[in-house]
Amino acid sequence: MRKVYVVGLGPGGSQYLTAEARRALEAAEVLCGYTVYVDLVAPLYPGKETYTTPMTQEIDRCRWALETANSGRTVAMVCSGDAGVYGMASPVLELAQDYPEVEVEVVAGITAALSGGAVLGAPLGLDFCVISLSDLLTPWEIIEKRLECAAAGDFAVCLYNPCSKKRRDHLRRACEILLRTRSGDTVCGWVKNIGREGQCCKVLTLSKLTEEELDMFTTVFIGSSKTQNLADRMVTPRGYEKA
Ligand code: SAH
Repeated sequence: MRKVYVVGLGPGGSQYLTAEARRALEAAEVLCGYTVYVDLVAPLYPGKETYTTPMTQEIDRCRWALETANSGRTVAMVCSGDAGVYGMASPVLELAQDYPEVEVEVVAGITAALSGGAVLGAPLGLDFCVISLSDLLTPWEIIEKRLECAAAGDFAVCLYNPCSKKRRDHLRRACEILLRTRSGDTVCGWVKNIGREGQCCKVLTLSKLTEEELDMFTTVFIGSSKTQNLADRMVTPRGYEKA
C-alpha cells in the first residue's frame, strides 16, 4: 500500500489524540514531522521509525513523506492541532499530484481555536473567524484587510500566530484595526501552551490586550459585541434567553 496519513495531534499531550489519529499512527511504519510533534507521539509507539525535520523545511518534509510512501512504506506525517488548519495537509495534497499512486488520508485533530476556546469558556458560540497574524506566507496588507472585514461583520475573532521574535507589534496593530469599530471594553482572552505543561490563560479587554506581550505558543480570542465576561469566563451567548 502506498499511503500517507496527515494527522492532527490536537494541542498537546496524548489525551487529545482522537481514536482516528491513534489508528493512523498505529498503521504507519514511519512517523515524520517537525521534531517537537514527533517527540510528543513517538514514546507511544516505541520502536517505530521516525524522521524529523526542522520547522522551516516543510516542503522537503512533504516530499520525503510522499517519496517514502511511493517506495511502499506507510507514513504518518504529524502536525499540531488540526492537520488542515495552518498545517501540512494542503502542501501534501498539492505535492501528491506528482505521486498518483500514493493515497493521502487527512485525519482531523482538535485545532487551537477549539481547545483554547474550551479553556476560556465559550468565546466562539456564534459566528467567528480565524486569522493568522503570520506574514511569512500572506502579505501584511491582506491580513489587515481580513481584520477589517471581520470587524465589519462583528465576528468573534480567533488569532493564530499572534507574534514571534521578528514580529513583535503584529498583535498591537491587529487590535488597533479592531478598535476602529469595536469598543475598548470588548471581552478578549488568550491561552498559552494549551494542553501542555505551563498552560495559562487570561480574560481581559481589547484595550488591555493591546499591551500584552505574547509568544507564538499563544492563541488569542477577541469577542464580538455580544461577548461577555462571566466570572472570568469568556462567553458569547447564543441568544436563547431572548428567544
Ligand atoms: N495546526 C495548528 C495551528 C498551527 S499555526 C492547529 O490547528 O492548532 C501555529 C499557531 O497555532 C500558534 O502560533 C498558536 O497561535 C496556535 N497554537 C497551536 N497549538 C497551540 C497550543 N498548544 N497552545 C496555544 N496556541 C497554539
